[in-house]
Amino acid sequence: MIKELQTHCTVINYVFTLDFFYISRQASLILGRHKHSQLLLLCNFIHLGLKIFYFPLKDMGNLGIKLFCSVFLVALLLHVLPARSQEVEDEREFDYKKYSEKGPARWGEIHPEWGVCSNGSMQSPIDLLHERVHVVSHLGRLNRSYKPSNATLKNRGHDMMLKWETGAGTLEINGTEYVLKQCHWHSPSEHTINGKKFALELHMVHESQDGKAAVVGILYTIGRPDSFLSSLTDRLRLVAGTGENETIAGIVNPKEIKIGSRKYYRYMGSLTTPPCTENVIWTIVRKVRTVTKEQVRLLRVAVHDESNTNARPVQLTNGRPVQLYRPDEKEDD
Ligand SMILES: [Zn+2]
Repeated sequence: MIKELQTHCTVINYVFTLDFFYISRQASLILGRHKHSQLLLLCNFIHLGLKIFYFPLKDMGNLGIKLFCSVFLVALLLHVLPARSQEVEDEREFDYKKYSEKGPARWGEIHPEWGVCSNGSMQSPIDLLHERVHVVSHLGRLNRSYKPSNATLKNRGHDMMLKWETGAGTLEINGTEYVLKQCHWHSPSEHTINGKKFALELHMVHESQDGKAAVVGILYTIGRPDSFLSSLTDRLRLVAGTGENETIAGIVNPKEIKIGSRKYYRYMGSLTTPPCTENVIWTIVRKVRTVTKEQVRLLRVAVHDESNTNARPVQLTNGRPVQLYRPDEKEDD
């Protein structure tokens, strides 16, 4: 009778241990991505721990089973915990998957301060539909005075960013100076022209003294290499190959980011990542430049996420005017 009870309890222990192992595996996969599941996991740990240690031991007091369970519990904790610290380091609070609970359609629900991502009226990116665009000549040429400056290449978890430590010159719009802070890449492009997506989009993010943002976007299609990205290839390979999230890029001259056209679209929009802050002055260079497939691939590989995209879908324009600056005939293009 006692022997039967012992066998019975051993079986129960095996079942619980397997159960525990399964949850640990699941946990290591999802930890760092869902805050709620971390809480759920903690409850599971406590629940199963109690089952394994107290339920059978109360009946049996078997030292063998106690040891067996202890070893398993410690081994499994060791198995799960390192995975956790790695994942949390790389935690991204939002992603780009269409049906994910952290996907673009849900960004506004993740934090109260991200609400404008869902309920804003001037969100970016948008489709630059020709019929909607007003051609104007009064905006003037892009007034950029950039300078070489120390920069760091950073993996932000969803994109690669080149950050200038103390700013790298200015862009002047309507008498306000916006300091160039950083640039980063989205693939495929976020803005579209007549519904057409491009392979890559570069964003040069500028900020005024009172914290207003002006972003210059450059679109790329697959073709010849982009010289600016070529100059960063070694640094990008380093990030892609080592798993390091940051590397010093040295002195980088933003003038090397070629525009190749005076024509540009201008509209009022938002940041295209949470918190989706509005009143951003957007300038999208009209000329579509080129980049190689390998350059686009390298930018994606360096990010080390499982996604192969980091482009927010186009947003409603809500009747916002979009201008296309084209210099007068007198001024050559
Ligand atoms: Zn961007």
